[in-house]
Amino acid sequence: MVRLRARLARSQSSFGQGLLNLLSSDSLDEDAWEEIEDTLITADIGVTSASQIVESLRTRVKVLGTRGPDEVRTLLREELLAQITTAADRTVHTEPHGDRPAVIMVVGVNGTGKTTTTGKLARALVGDGRSVVLGAADTFRAAASEQLQTWGGRVGAPVVTKEEGSDPASVAFDAVSRGIEDGADTVIIDTAGRLHTKTGLMDELGKVKRVVEKKSQVDEVLLVLDATTGQNGLRQARVFGEVVNVTGIALTKLDGTAKGGIIVQVQRELGVPVKLVGLGEGPDDLAPFDPEVFVDTILS
Ligand code: GDP
Repeated sequence: MVRLRARLARSQSSFGQGLLNLLSSDSLDEDAWEEIEDTLITADIGVTSASQIVESLRTRVKVLGTRGPDEVRTLLREELLAQITTAADRTVHTEPHGDRPAVIMVVGVNGTGKTTTTGKLARALVGDGRSVVLGAADTFRAAASEQLQTWGGRVGAPVVTKEEGSDPASVAFDAVSRGIEDGADTVIIDTAGRLHTKTGLMDELGKVKRVVEKKSQVDEVLLVLDATTGQNGLRQARVFGEVVNVTGIALTKLDGTAKGGIIVQVQRELGVPVKLVGLGEGPDDLAPFDPEVFVDTILS
């Protein structure tokens, strides 16, 4: 958590500070409100959320009169938090069921950070004393499997792989079988993210899921989205949402953008909670998403 606050502060607080300055102005005229809305939209918060926040702030400021910086900050904090569904279950389900490991499928477009997130998650679990098996089900690129093997070696998790071009579902099946044999707590399957055709993707991910379910249940389907890709990321997310039942989002590369508002938009549009955030390329640069810490960081 401390890391989340520290890392985000650098990239996100410029947006928050801009908003606070605008709101603290003595003359909140039409232009000022428009500028506030633009600032929110520029931070990728989404048009709907931006206009809701502005409407609500306007009403509250009008009723209560112009206020001091602390009060303005409290108002803005409440409005931003209201846009992030705090009731959502943000637990990443990693607990085994009796003699069956929990199974997490990691899905998303290539380059978003799937393999890195898989490695970081394994690292966090192993660090907590759990045993983890990784499955390299992106069999289309030899490099993907090698990259996962590097992560496995680094974090102390065995990696199940097959030669390039093998059936991804068979890798997933073998990884879960290995997890059961080893009495592992969690199996994490890194899948291929080729958005070639929607049917192709659906067939591939659907088959991986069906095959895994012959052995154990799938507890999480984590969709990895790159925070720097804005609307494009949202489009990808919609496609994945149509082909698999996404249970949570891992939003990566938040360290590389000042547009943290994408968190709000992603949740609103997809109705799926952001569970994890990626804050760098290193093994420990993954944190659970906490809305309050996030909003406080923006407004720090
Ligand atoms: P995949 O193709 O979806 O498996 O993506 P990779 O895991 O190979 O990641 C693509 C690139 O993004 C790599 O260079 C990663 O180091 C980088 N990356 C992944 N997550 C993060 C993150 O949270 N922050 C930053 N700055 N880079 C990241």
